[in-house]
Amino acid sequence: MRIAVLKERAAGESRVAATPETVKKFAALGATLAVEEGAGAAASITDEAYRKAGAEVGPASAVVKDADIVLGVQAPDAAALQGAKPGAWVAATFDPFGNKDRVEAYAKAGLEALSMEFMPRITRAQSMDVLSSQSNLAGYKAVLASADTYGRAFPMMMTAAGTVSAAKVFVMGVGVAGLQAIATAKRLGAQVSATDVRSATKEQIMSLGAKPVFVESVEGIEGEGSGGYATEMSEEYQKAQAELVSSHIAKQDIVITTALIPGRAAPRLISDAQIATMREGSVIFDLAVAQGGNVEGSKPDETVVKHGVKIIGFSNTPAHLAADTSALFSRNLYNFLNAFWDKEAGKPLLDEEIGDAVRLTQGGEIVNERLKG
Ligand code: NAD
Repeated sequence: MRIAVLKERAAGESRVAATPETVKKFAALGATLAVEEGAGAAASITDEAYRKAGAEVGPASAVVKDADIVLGVQAPDAAALQGAKPGAWVAATFDPFGNKDRVEAYAKAGLEALSMEFMPRITRAQSMDVLSSQSNLAGYKAVLASADTYGRAFPMMMTAAGTVSAAKVFVMGVGVAGLQAIATAKRLGAQVSATDVRSATKEQIMSLGAKPVFVESVEGIEGEGSGGYATEMSEEYQKAQAELVSSHIAKQDIVITTALIPGRAAPRLISDAQIATMREGSVIFDLAVAQGGNVEGSKPDETVVKHGVKIIGFSNTPAHLAADTSALFSRNLYNFLNAFWDKEAGKPLLDEEIGDAVRLTQGGEIVNERLKG
């Protein structure tokens, strides 16, 4: 089994899909790891560290040649994989709904695309779930970036020169990123409140010592929602939510929005008129900015100032903590392949539940039900 790891080609992508730790673990399974020169540089991993762990390090063409499996953070162009074995697996994120051309190119090239975003949210797959591992650190970074942009302190401080009051932080969308954002803002000493459409999050918010702020007049999504995910809300709900947000947001210093709906543009949660009610110098971090944005006027990687409020958000938040996000992403990939490693065959053999969920292309065709439907 030859497993190849290329340097990421997407602009601003600083992560890498294997670390010296996972290189060693794959070697223990009997696989050979080949890593492109400089692949780990932006995540603070040297070629030497990969070599020491037992990897071959070389140029892209040599790394890909005869590969059975290619690992990526963002799937490379199919054209970059010429020389890999016919039917080679590529385990990476594919943005399958947003980048259909790439999926088609993989099918045409006879590659087997395994989309890590389509990992089912079931207990046994938690350790393989890149969305969770990356969102967790993204939620943390969103709070730090907001704190850095905010011209005031987060904790209450009683000093000889007088009192500094605690920042008020409101987190909208309490999935994996939102929960970490709440925890991080609490640790920094802010007063934190949070909202979601899924009723199951209320208890989670309270267990972190934050205040839940929920639409009560219209029913939201009972419990966790389907597979833990939200769906688009009714017009009536959206109106009630807008009213609730309007009254709450005016009293907040920092708002972190993280709301996503799988396969759709991010829901719009904050309008320009609502931004206008916030105090000058407040900060909004739109973690969904790359998926269309939760906040009117937000732009990826830019500080937009509206009504004296700074609106920020990164096109790729996990890439801002590349060493840690790479370590977790790499472990997710290792956990995935290791769970299915067949000792006799000397390679992984996927089962139906997970294999069919993540597999996008096989035998020259697009085979994934979510994409076909
Ligand atoms: P996500 O990134 O899809 O969305 C972020 C949050 O935004 C969600 O909580 C969602 O309900 C919320 N949201 C969507 N529309 C909204 C709106 N209009 N207003 C306010 N909030 C809105 O979610 P996620 O972080 O991927 O997590 C979703 C769920 O999946 C969580 O319950 C999480 O615990 C669960 N999960 C389970 C597993 C597992 O069992 N393997 C792994 C990871 C996550």
